[in-house]
Amino acid sequence: MTADLMAALRSVIGADFVKQGSDIPERHWTDATETARICPKALLLPGSTEEVSAVLALCFQAGQPVVVQGGLTGLAGGARPQEGEIALSLQRLTGIEEIDVESRTMTALAGTPLYVVHEAAEKVGLHYGVDLGARGTCTIGGNVATNAGGVQALRYGVTRRNVLGLEAVLADGTVLTGLNKMLKNNTGYEWAQLMIGSEGTLGVITRVSLALSPAPLAFQTALCAVANVTDAAAVLGRLEQLFSGRLVTFEGMWREYMDVTDRLGTLPEPFAERPEITLLIEVALGDGQEAQDLLAEALSTLMEEGRIADALLAQSLQDRQRFWAYREANYEFHRVMPVGEHYDISLPINVMDDAITHLRRETAAAMPGCIFIAFGHVADSNLHLAIYPDRSTGDLSAANRIVYDAVGLFKGSISAEHGIGMIKRPYLSRSRTPAELALMKTLKRTLDPAAILNRDRIFVTG
Ligand SMILES: Cc1cc2nc3c(=O)[nH]c(=O)nc-3n(C[C@H](O)[C@H](O)[C@H](O)COP(=O)(O)OP(=O)(O)OC[C@H]3O[C@@H](n4cnc5c(N)ncnc54)[C@H](O)[C@@H]3O)c2cc1C
Repeated sequence: MTADLMAALRSVIGADFVKQGSDIPERHWTDATETARICPKALLLPGSTEEVSAVLALCFQAGQPVVVQGGLTGLAGGARPQEGEIALSLQRLTGIEEIDVESRTMTALAGTPLYVVHEAAEKVGLHYGVDLGARGTCTIGGNVATNAGGVQALRYGVTRRNVLGLEAVLADGTVLTGLNKMLKNNTGYEWAQLMIGSEGTLGVITRVSLALSPAPLAFQTALCAVANVTDAAAVLGRLEQLFSGRLVTFEGMWREYMDVTDRLGTLPEPFAERPEITLLIEVALGDGQEAQDLLAEALSTLMEEGRIADALLAQSLQDRQRFWAYREANYEFHRVMPVGEHYDISLPINVMDDAITHLRRETAAAMPGCIFIAFGHVADSNLHLAIYPDRSTGDLSAANRIVYDAVGLFKGSISAEHGIGMIKRPYLSRSRTPAELALMKTLKRTLDPAAILNRDRIFVTG
């Protein structure tokens, strides 16, 4: 049966694009979580939507489970293979097919890396509003499948808001084409919205139609020291009021995060005294002294009001890069920290201070010597947490319970932007009601009755 299937797959996409055994590069054995490394039964590299359709039809008929792979930067374990799965990679479906400057839209193939989307938009004076640290490797199809958020969601929204239409292939090979380019198109069920954030469980995205925005003015960038989230929220509110539609980034790094950044030994201490929260703020005000003065004035008023303890304004591109380096330092924490547990939760902003106090206290009590860090997209209610064990005990046994109990206590969400994948699957019922879970399962059964696509991602397919 398997030999027949392999032969049929080779005949539709070519033997060079059906890899097996040691021909499968190891990067396809896992995703960025690196939580398990399993060589897929085969790696399929289709080169067109028609080929994606043909291979899925064959796998569907054979009941062969398939895991969909984009750039493999996912942080929920969704793209990493399970035993017996065939991996279907979108890496050959890459390229920008159209930029319509008048309609401000772009059509791109799903395997196109995010940075290519950015560069193509920039070349015609436009901007694609979703940006994330994995921009060099993640694909636009993976971004849509995970409804990625990132560092400009405050201004442009998450991926969902930036997608106008899709082309996708269902599990049985049916091709759905809805590459809509208009903001308004009220013509019944919007299946594309259903695909967004479905993490490859409902269909394989092959093309995307994206909404672009006018290129923003140059950014003014600042680091601000604040004493708590209440003050950060006041700063956020004021800047939004003053610079309506121009505040693009508002990120927070709690003091333990800056302690670990300090251990890397690559960045100077930004403030004389380490604050509870260091904010990274970007406002699209243009370049030049006048623009800088506008932000400086706003921040000094907030200092006079006691909302900000200290602030630094970037005076050069190097300063801007350094300010961003604090925020992206977490990608290097593995160099100085033991293996930890990582979380991507949302919490309402008004309870964030209490939640951080609670999490610090509970983690210290249950796992003495552990290090708890928090950082992330504060304006989007999105916190990334990491808990590193004390090196002598390696104990992280209470970490999941404490974090997910806190999510329940403070009425947050177990995943803000990375998705559920396989890693957060056991906790889904904490963020979704039984009726919601039942509807998800009904949708899955309807669109993928043989449960071949990304089986057991988000929930156990059953
Ligand atoms: C350094 C770093 C920074 C990050 N920062 C952010 C951030 O700020 N915000 C954020 O939201 N995420 C972030 N992430 C997580 C990750 O980059 C995103 O989830 C991204 O959208 C995944 O894209 P990918 O192409 O790598 O998808 P993959 O990892 O390959 O896949 C992710 C999921 O989508 C499915 N999938 C992939 N392509 C398709 C397709 N064409 N059709 C159907 N299903 C598909 C996979 O099966 C899997 O379930 C970060 C990751 C890293 C490593």
